[in-house]
Parts: sequence; C-alpha cells; structure tokens
Amino acid sequence: MRRTELIQRARELSRPFRVEKGETFRLKHVDPGDTQEFTAEDKPRAKEALALGVELLADFQDLLYAQDRWALLLIFQAMDAAGKDGTIKHVMSGVNPQGCQVTAFKAPSAVDLDHDFLWRCNRALPERGRIGIFNRSYYEETLVVRVHPELLERQSLPPRLKRKEIWPQRFEDIRHYERYLARNGIVPVKFFLHVSKREQKKRFLERLENPEKHWKFSAADIRERAHWDAYMEAYEDTIRHTATAEAPWYVVPADNKWFTRIVVGAAVIDALDGLDLRYPVVDEAARQQLQEAHRALLAED
Ligand code: ATP
Ligand code: MG
Repeated sequence: MRRTELIQRARELSRPFRVEKGETFRLKHVDPGDTQEFTAEDKPRAKEALALGVELLADFQDLLYAQDRWALLLIFQAMDAAGKDGTIKHVMSGVNPQGCQVTAFKAPSAVDLDHDFLWRCNRALPERGRIGIFNRSYYEETLVVRVHPELLERQSLPPRLKRKEIWPQRFEDIRHYERYLARNGIVPVKFFLHVSKREQKKRFLERLENPEKHWKFSAADIRERAHWDAYMEAYEDTIRHTATAEAPWYVVPADNKWFTRIVVGAAVIDALDGLDLRYPVVDEAARQQLQEAHRALLAED
C-alpha cells in the first residue's frame, strides 16, 4: 500500500471511535467487542496492518523530531487489565526511543498532594519534537477521585473549595488547559480503552491462574472492579465534558487486543498527518557550508 493510501486507511479506521463533541457521547453506543470489518480469522491481516502502521508512525516521528516544532501528547486511561501497557508497547515499538517519553501516574505522593492536580502532569509534558505518553494522567482526578470521594478529602485543598461544583469546575479547567496546550503546539490525543466487565474477569482469572502473570495482579484491582458502574458513569461524564476538536477522545473497543492496537496506531497516524510535518529546509548559507564540507571530505586522499 502506498503512503497516501495508508494514511487514508488510518483515518477510516480510527474516525468511528473519535469523540470531539462531548455532548452527544454515550458510552453504551460503543461495544467493547467491536472489531469493525475484521473477523477473528482476519487476525493475521490485522497484525500486518499494525506492522505497516508502526513503520509509517516511525517515519512521521522522524519528521516530528527533525522539525522540532510540534509535540504530541497521548493520554491513556482505562480500567485495569484493559491493555494500556501492551498497547503502548506495540504501537510505539517502531519509534526512536529518543523521541518518545512515557510517564506512568500512580497514586499521588505526599509531594504531589501538596500541589494542584495538574502539577505533576505538567512537569512531564513532552518537549517539542517529541511524543509524550501518559499512562494514566490528570484524568484520574475526575475518575478515581470522583468514585472515591475520600481521596478528595486527602488532598490539601482549602475546605471551602471542596464543594459539589468542583466537578464541573475540574472539567472546565481541563478543557482550558488542553486548549492552552494545543495553542502552544502540544497536541493532546486521549484514549479510553473500553474493556467489558466480562473480559476484565477473564483477564484477571488468567493473571491468577498463570504464575508468570501473578505479578500483574493486585488485590486493589478486585476492589476497583466492585465499583464498575460508578467508574463507567465517571468515564462517560468525563468524556462528555472534555471531548473537543482540539483535544479529542478516542473510545477504543478493548476486548480484542489486536484490534485496540490497530485503532490506536491509526489514530496516532491521523493526528501526526494533521500537523503538516516537513523536514527543515536549510538556507543558502548553510547549503554552501554543506557543499564546502562535501568538497573537503572528497579532497582528503
Ligand atoms: P499496572 O497495574 O499495569 O502496573 P496501573 O496504572 O494500574 O498499572 P497501579 O499501581 O496498579 O498502576 O495503579 C495505580 C493506581 O493509582 C490506580 O488505581 C489509579 O487509579 C491510582 N491513581 C492514579 N492517579 C491518581 C490520583 N490522582 N488520585 C488518586 N489515585 C490515583
Ligand atoms: Mg493496576
């Protein structure tokens, strides 16, 4: 497939899952088991598509790095075992590690809690020319903290700011923050890997039954699973209030890992294609220097 066709294909594959007008979004309209036109027998074809995508992504990243103007901020949010880590690993497998920075955000430390909720993420923003990846992010604030109000109590906020208006305010602040980033050439693209409760159970059981996967299991995962419906409400509300044209969400079906990876790869390609990236052109003076260097090298015996 030619480059232009691949880019077109990436757009077609990812667009059905893109949300940029939050108001119209309903989580129940996305089936976690969806694989579009691919069937289970197509898995090898799907893997091939991913390989092509990974190659194209590497080309784009080289351009991004050379041009050194834009940065891409990829945010991954999901329930446990939805496949964040594996997706990041596969989709970014072809890119130059120098141009890519991954940050995982776990439960906040005492120092984190002594700051505003965007602080630790803001410090981890990608430099120009880079792809920054957040494995969890400031969105935990409107997800886990919303599901567990006691976490809000532990934050060092002045008491009178902990009112119920805090959630609409958080959404507004996030929208403005992401608009600020976009206006500064840091392009946010957000992914919710949407796994079903049934598939999560299957993956937890695998982790418990396979000694090589024991390390991946934590008792906290089962505790959070008990709050499934509250999490789904929090995700829906978050996406409804923070999906915008300049910082879209992709709600990606996550019951089939191979499909999740294709869609995420395609969305990243689509985002990079939108940046009109090109290699810097050297000016006349620099070109003369290059010619001189070329002559000098050839003149060596
Ligand atoms: P994995 O399990 O694959 O190692 P993970 O991202 O699930 O990756 P964990 O250490 O298991 O990592 O979980 C991190 C926990 O930290 C999650 O339960 C998440 O909700 C919680 N967390 C992250 N950010 C915040 C926050 N701002 N406030 C409270 N809890 C948070
Ligand atoms: Mg975990």
